[in-house]
Amino acid sequence: MRRYLVAGNWKMNGSLTSVRELLAAIRQAQDDTAELAVFPPFVYLAEVAAQLRGSGIAWGAQNVSEHPSGAYTGEVAAAMLQDFGCAYTLVGHSERRALYGETDAQTAVKFELLQQAGIRPVLCLGETLQERETEQTECVVERQLTAVLDRVGVAALSDCVLAYEPVWAIGTGKTATPEQAQAVHAFIRSIVAKSDDIIAGSVRILYGGSVKSANAKALFAMPDIDGGLIGGASLNPVEFLDIAHATI
Ligand code: PEP
Repeated sequence: MRRYLVAGNWKMNGSLTSVRELLAAIRQAQDDTAELAVFPPFVYLAEVAAQLRGSGIAWGAQNVSEHPSGAYTGEVAAAMLQDFGCAYTLVGHSERRALYGETDAQTAVKFELLQQAGIRPVLCLGETLQERETEQTECVVERQLTAVLDRVGVAALSDCVLAYEPVWAIGTGKTATPEQAQAVHAFIRSIVAKSDDIIAGSVRILYGGSVKSANAKALFAMPDIDGGLIGGASLNPVEFLDIAHATI
């Protein structure tokens, strides 16, 4: 049985004051409907760790360096994230791929370094609008996933989370329909099943892309959707927790 995970990607938003307010509001209203996680900007991780330790809510970073340590100005290593108690960390988010040119190969290295540091990667996969319109969705997500599988092997997927995030749905207000999302989630699971049926059945696959409380229930009702990776709506604690409640 896969437990729903609802995770908030705060992107580059917030201030120390707003982070404190957001955490207090989430903590106050939280229940154990779904597992919750938040991904603040790096500089707020210490604050988040201090506020959430013992709460049952997990936290993590939005990115990690592809190097374990050394002269990489501005980068943050997996071991540093581990120091701050990160349970999860995003890799391969489409904004990293599109805006910073991160490749499938770099994403696979980051995935591996996170696991070596005892942090569960949340591997983001998804196609652009042009790729969807030219019917390349399956080929793109398969390529993105295979790059990681080739590097770390299927067993590594037993301790990670996958997130299908169609690029055309992120921050645009356009959500994939539940049926569109379900089709890709089932396809992703089928790729994992080619190597390991049991892991395919247990790995959680989140949907991300303009999820709101108004559309979450229909998405989460799909058999292969195990929760959500929430961007904009996760900055509003009421909306974020309403999305978590849509898992029941
Ligand atoms: C995201 O950034 O992962 C995301 C899903 O954003 P939004 O919910 O704002 O589309």
